[in-house]
Amino acid sequence: MSAADYPQGDGNPECPHCHGRGVVPVPKEQRPPFAIGDLTRPCTCILARDVLANVERGWKGLSKADPLSHGETSPLRGQEDKNLRLTLSNKAFREHLRHVAVRMGPNWNFLVTSEVGLMDSWLSNIATEEIEDPDVERRRRMKDATHYQTLIDLIEPPGLLIILLGVKSTRNSATAEVILEAVQHRNYKDKPTWLVDQPMHRLAPGHLAYSPLLEATVADWPRVEILAAGDTPQISPGGFQQFSMGDDLPSTGGAVPPVLSTPSSPVGVGGGNIPENKTAPTQNLLDSSDAFPSHPKKSKGGRNR
Ligand SMILES: [Zn+2]
Repeated sequence: MSAADYPQGDGNPECPHCHGRGVVPVPKEQRPPFAIGDLTRPCTCILARDVLANVERGWKGLSKADPLSHGETSPLRGQEDKNLRLTLSNKAFREHLRHVAVRMGPNWNFLVTSEVGLMDSWLSNIATEEIEDPDVERRRRMKDATHYQTLIDLIEPPGLLIILLGVKSTRNSATAEVILEAVQHRNYKDKPTWLVDQPMHRLAPGHLAYSPLLEATVADWPRVEILAAGDTPQISPGGFQQFSMGDDLPSTGGAVPPVLSTPSSPVGVGGGNIPENKTAPTQNLLDSSDAFPSHPKKSKGGRNR
């Protein structure tokens, strides 16, 4: 029986494995004993499509981030169910989060938001015209930004909530309070949160999102720093894991220096104004080093059965 005998499925018509059928036959040696008829399983193109959709759902534009260098692993992998304080450039954050997200499968319930996203939902009962916060007002007018009815609607559902700091550019005294509320609510619900800042713009006195109470609340969270050449390391009294990306940064002919974040050029979140790396095509989701959960694992004896 050839693939042409099946009705067209919802796979990728260009897919060399299923030719658009969306499923592939289960190889003989993997069929359960006594199975009769045609046994199929979802094709990798279906899985890739669903993973891609989930990566974009969690953070619009994330799938276009550069893959990590071949063989490079991320210290964020395996931390998905823990509270974490991260310090790394926005570029490195996107690369590492993409690395994690494509490996977590299509159902990973993560969400990236920012101070502005939190403030937007916290102020949801205030009309756009009456909002006195320029960052929130700008976000309100973005057509493709997701707006929530309440702060809880934003912060409670995600399995992992990631709050990217340093996005807000104008001071609003409620910012730290709202972040604290989000962190405390997540703690109360026993759900993990990542707080992300940048080597050149750390959550410390002077940062728009800083408050002593917020600092005290997250003081015992594990910290991970991923520094590129040129980032300033900071000695932390509590100690933290530090990873240098240095020479491991993906490069195109060595011409691209590590991108450092600067406090004066905030990156937009969830609102469609994320700076995108124009050299990174969407299809890099499927670079050869990306592993998908459905791939059969090479386990002892598995091949000899
Ligand atoms: Zn396929």
